[in-house]
Amino acid sequence: MNDLTAPDAEVDERAIEAALRPRSLDEVVGQQRVRDQLGLVLEAARLRERAPDHVLLSGPPGLGKTTLAMIIAAEVGAPLRLTSGPALTHAGDLAAILSGMNDGDVLFVDEIHRMSRAAEEMLYLAMEDFRVDVVIGKGPGATAIPLELPPFTLVGATTRAGLLPGPLRDRFGFTGHLEFYAPHELERIVHRSAGLLDVPTTGEGAAEIASRSRGTPRIANRLLRRVRDYAQVRGDGTVGLEVARKALDLYEVDELGLDRLDRGVLDVLCRRFGGGPVGLSTLAVAVGEERETVEEVAEPFLVRLGFLARTPRGRVATPAAWAHLGLTPPSAPEP
Ligand code: ADP
Repeated sequence: MNDLTAPDAEVDERAIEAALRPRSLDEVVGQQRVRDQLGLVLEAARLRERAPDHVLLSGPPGLGKTTLAMIIAAEVGAPLRLTSGPALTHAGDLAAILSGMNDGDVLFVDEIHRMSRAAEEMLYLAMEDFRVDVVIGKGPGATAIPLELPPFTLVGATTRAGLLPGPLRDRFGFTGHLEFYAPHELERIVHRSAGLLDVPTTGEGAAEIASRSRGTPRIANRLLRRVRDYAQVRGDGTVGLEVARKALDLYEVDELGLDRLDRGVLDVLCRRFGGGPVGLSTLAVAVGEERETVEEVAEPFLVRLGFLARTPRGRVATPAAWAHLGLTPPSAPEP
């Protein structure tokens, strides 16, 4: 167990993460398009004095979906109720939450693509007609009692919009796709967080952290905290270029931002499977990780870097991946 997985550290880390969240659309760095679109949806709802349309936010983990959901609730001036797809195993789990909602509340369902089928069907009706049918009893004697719901706004978050069934996707009035952040945006995020955490940081130090953050604010903030530790223990407390490089090397985050899992995936793909194609499940077992983690956390970034291709026959390492590992790809078989 390292300091990132120790239970106490985790509570502390989560509290820090919460403290670093932007509180309004103006504080959100980057994602200009989604910000503009969302700003308009919220403004229009305000003018009409109605709850805003349901919002779906998609994109890889750590890009700001929860943050935006909290901002929507803050802008609407309503409490945010949080739940997640995996917690909604039965329709009853969802019914219990929905029946406790007040007029204009915002309900955030994280990982909405992992909801059970029964909960999903209940949600269709709730989203469209603000009504649920609560089934009492079982078998032929079961009766459905309709329950009216106050108007509310659902904010769904998913790492994979493509996994969402069409009927569910269609019930969202607005879908925002969050993109990986550009290095200069991450640099601004590092500066902002360093200011909030009161950590003296140079421009070069922030740029170094930003360039190794895989386009992801959550990672930028996490790396900043690790570099801060290093600066305080081994340096004079200032996050500068040298300190950032040494700290990130120590934590095995390479100059492109690849971490152990990313490199593990590439390594297994190249060394053990000759560059692929290899199926996702096999790859996940080989690196000792969950299928979802490999697919949703490691792969999008490797694909973006042009290191990995998803083909119908499986995952394939590109020549750039071989080069990054310092390996020579096997020569193509003679025709
Ligand atoms: P997700 O729900 O997509 O996994 P979060 O909303 O939890 O991501 O964001 C992770 C962290 O990254 C938050 O603590 C927040 O401080 C930071 N963050 C995310 N997006 C931004 C942004 N656009 N500007 C500044 N900080 C951000």
